Amino acid sequence: MAFKSGFVSILGEPNVGKSTLLNAFLGQKLSIITPKAQTTRHRILGIMNGDDFQIVFSDTPGVIKPHYKLHESMMKAVESAREDADLILLMIDSTLPAPDLSIYEQIKENNIPVIVVINKCDQSDKARMEAAIQPFRDLPGISEIVEISALHCINTVFLLGRILEFLPEHPAYYPEDELSDKNIRFFVSEIIREKIMLLYHQEIPYSAEVFMEEYKEEETIDRIKAIIFVSRESQKAILIGHQGKAIKTLGTEARKDIEEFVGKHVFLELSVKISKDWRDNELQLKRFGY
Ligand code: GDP
Ligand code: MG
Repeated sequence: MAFKSGFVSILGEPNVGKSTLLNAFLGQKLSIITPKAQTTRHRILGIMNGDDFQIVFSDTPGVIKPHYKLHESMMKAVESAREDADLILLMIDSTLPAPDLSIYEQIKENNIPVIVVINKCDQSDKARMEAAIQPFRDLPGISEIVEISALHCINTVFLLGRILEFLPEHPAYYPEDELSDKNIRFFVSEIIREKIMLLYHQEIPYSAEVFMEEYKEEETIDRIKAIIFVSRESQKAILIGHQGKAIKTLGTEARKDIEEFVGKHVFLELSVKISKDWRDNELQLKRFGY
């Protein structure tokens, strides 16, 4: 059989399970996942290799109306993933009432095959699943509708089979040992950001960005210095916490996951700085890689 390879973009509203699906396919936690919306801020490539195929998945930020320049950059990432895909997976959360069909309207313009993926089937009964599928039944441009649970890997192998049907014959785009277009530093900063999203509340998770100051690889240990930037003085105090307790917990939680990710001991040093209203500061966004 001829080798197949292509780009598959996972798109959808926030929190539908896009990153969970990417990780399920890769069998590895590449993209960070939290119950909060806007966890994913970048387009992240995840490369899946089989005997006769290579799929280059794109995980993307959830589609939202931009409130900050940061959001505009996030939506640009979505746009690029929408435009250069061989196949689009439009992901829907079956537990939510009505899906936002405006994403479908945007996708339709690109004339790329679309599989609608109805996720979280583990949480929805038959009637709910049917209600989630209904809006897409007779829409033009939808190649298929597949019900899955990304979290519990229900029907994901079937979905993979369907995806392969749409991939063109093409040699691999990336070397087989490459897992992503992003480097270790990026994923380490994402792990720290995931812990911020999980441990803090209200506006803190959305106001924080992690900047890698130093990454020194030694034989038995990686020495990492990271700066957490927040928008305001008051947020800095909350991040650090009374007698530094909060940031200590953050550091410990992040270090454990980083050690698992890099397979090595890690020394992690965190500091907190203020970058006033960085989410609307073009130069700062650029420095942060947006
Ligand atoms: P994203 O914003 O679309 O990338 O969504 P995430 O992958 O970050 O997942 C958002 C939340 O939905 C997390 O709490 C996941 O654990 C949860 N989730 C994802 N897939 C499933 C699923 O199949 N079933 C259930 N019950 N929860 C899921
Ligand atoms: Mg995500």
